[in-house]
This record gives sequence, C-alpha cells and structure tokens, in this order.
Amino acid sequence: STSIGIVGLPNVGKSTLFNALTKNDVLAANYPFATIEPNVGVVGVPDPRLPKLAELFGSARILPATVDFVDIAGIVRGASEGEGLGNKFLANIRETDAICQVIRAFKDDNVVHVDGKVSPKDDIETINTELILADLQTVEKVLPRLAKEARIKKDVAPKLAAVEEAKAILEAGDTLFSKGIAQGTEKAAPLHDLHLLTTKPFLYVFNVDEDELTDDTFKAEQRALVAPAEAIFLNAKLEADLAELDDEEALELLQSVGQDEPGLATLARVGFETLGLQTYLTAGPKETRAWTIDKGATAPQAAGVIHTDFERGFIKAEIISFDDLVTTGSIADARAAGKARMEGKDYVMRDGDVVEFRFNV
Ligand code: GDP
Repeated sequence: STSIGIVGLPNVGKSTLFNALTKNDVLAANYPFATIEPNVGVVGVPDPRLPKLAELFGSARILPATVDFVDIAGIVRGASEGEGLGNKFLANIRETDAICQVIRAFKDDNVVHVDGKVSPKDDIETINTELILADLQTVEKVLPRLAKEARIKKDVAPKLAAVEEAKAILEAGDTLFSKGIAQGTEKAAPLHDLHLLTTKPFLYVFNVDEDELTDDTFKAEQRALVAPAEAIFLNAKLEADLAELDDEEALELLQSVGQDEPGLATLARVGFETLGLQTYLTAGPKETRAWTIDKGATAPQAAGVIHTDFERGFIKAEIISFDDLVTTGSIADARAAGKARMEGKDYVMRDGDVVEFRFNV
C-alpha cells in the first residue's frame, strides 16, 4: 500500500509534474523487464543512509524504497454527481492510499485557469467539495439500513454512531482526515468497509512561481490553508527541466533558485511519511536496499516483505543500527563491539535497523 493519487483542477500543472515524476521512474531504471503502467510513476524515496551503506559494503547497486504516484485524470467538478468520467475518477481515487492535490499558485496569463482566477483557497475547496459530496452520498446510502439494524442488534450501535459523526463532519464541509478520522486509525475503523475518500491522508503540492519557492511568508499562508496536511512547494516546469539534467547540472540549477533538493525528492519523502510507512535496510556486495514496512511491524512481518517464506520460517533477526554500523565500520566490528543484537519474533522494527534474517526454508 504505497500509492498516492495525484488530483487537481485542469491546467494546474499535473501533467508537467507527472512527466517529471516518470522521468525519475526507478522501475524503468532498475527492472528492465517490469511492466510500466502509463499512469503510474514509481519514485525512489531519497535516503542519504543508502549510499553510505553501499560504500561500506561495496554494493553493486542501491534500491531505495518507492512510492507509486498515480495520475488520476478526469474532471473534478460534478464528479460526485456520478456521470461517466466522474465515476471513474472517484473509483480511481478509491484505490489509492493517499490523495495528493496539485494546486496552482503560479501566475501566467498564457495559461487559462478554469475558474478565471488563481486562488489556491478556492481550488482546494472545489476539489474537497467533490470528495466530501461523494462521501456524503455513501454515508447517506447506508444510514437508514444501519439505523434499522441498530434497533435489532446492539453491537451495531458503535458503527451507527461513527457514521452519524462522519455525516455531521461532511455536512459541515470538512474532510474526515482533517478532523482526525484518518484511515488506519481506531476512529476510522468502524467506517472501514465504506471505503470513504476523505479518510485518506491528504497532501498538497503548490505549483508556484520560482520566486515564491523562497518566499517564507507566502508559504506560511498556504500551509495554514491545508494544515494539518503537509504542503510541498515546487515549480513543475523547473522539475521537468531538472529531470533532464545530470546530477551536477541539476544541483547548479537548484542552487540558482535557492533550493537544496528537487521538489520531487521532497514529494517522495513527505508522501512516504504521509502513508505511515517506514523502512529497514539490508546491505551486501550485491545491493544495498531499503524495504518498506508499516510502522509497528514486527521482525517476522519485516522478513515477509522480502519473501513470504522468510516470515513463515523466521528464526531471528540480527540487527545493527545504521549509526552503530557506520561508527564501527563493518558487521564483524559491530559484533565485536557488542552492537549486533539478536531479536526474536516479537521485536518491533525501528527506523534505520540494518538487518540480516535467520530462517528455515
Ligand atoms: P494539467 O492540466 O493540470 O495536467 O496541467 P499541465 O501540466 O498540462 O499544464 C498546463 C499548462 O500550464 C501548460 O501549458 C504548462 O506548460 C503550464 N505550466 C505547468 N506548470 C507551470 C509552472 O510552474 N509555471 C508556468 N508558468 N506554467 C506552467
């Protein structure tokens, strides 16, 4: 579950951004025989620990954790009325794990805004309204049946209460996520089978003019519009240009606009965090790799991400923290210094664990 749907009004720069994303597609780079879906960009999550480990172990390649960005095309306004494209649009969003809204903040008289003026606040409201209306329909459809069931079966009461609370929030024009009813939390559990859209975590990409990239006052204002969701500021055209350059040239271009990393790198990192994921690391001469797990995953669950047999046959995990490994310089030295731990099946993985699993096959 690592997919983020990209949505937004027409002409805000979604295609420009998505094209830049696919130029960084790690599938295309690392798995020559992978099927590349035209509407999915698989982007590596930048992690400065990976090159360090690769150097220690002389790894032939580095495989970062990835996030799938899905380009969700289709008109937005009126989508909740369930006409053709609108239905497909909502169905596609339903399949993603988080929603990334691209918002136009750049000024350009040559690029028409569908509503005639550039207003991040209005655009966010337009999109959120469609998602909220779609959820409201879902909720209103199940309520009468739930109310009837609750009169007969006592254990339906908590679900009925949760759906009623959700309805009140949606009617007030708020997304469920913004009110703490977020997918994966206990509060959202009774709503799980409704597959609501606005329980998904949201993040916002502001497509800004280059001079706004360093305008802290402007950025603070936009952040306030979307809090508690994360806001990322980038210039889609600049990202597209960066994707065409080699590392050194890209760095030069970035520095000329006061940035220290591409907006896409920030987007991948923030997106990964928004999904509630973390990584653990493996390293050897063949490859250094970050593996994606849910926060709170146990050692056998982590092993299962590599191969289901590893989870079934799990014996134990030898774990060295990244910092200890770098300080001691090798697995052997970390062991000698007492920094390698043997952990059993109840161990909860921590970010930055470098792991070797022992298992029966
Ligand atoms: P979409 O409809 O949201 O997919 O938007 P597009 O990516 O097709 O962009 C619409 C138009 O806006 C195109 O002409 C782009 O070249 C232009 N555009 C995209 N991003 C920027 C930007 O950051 N600044 C400016 N000035 N134009 C942009």
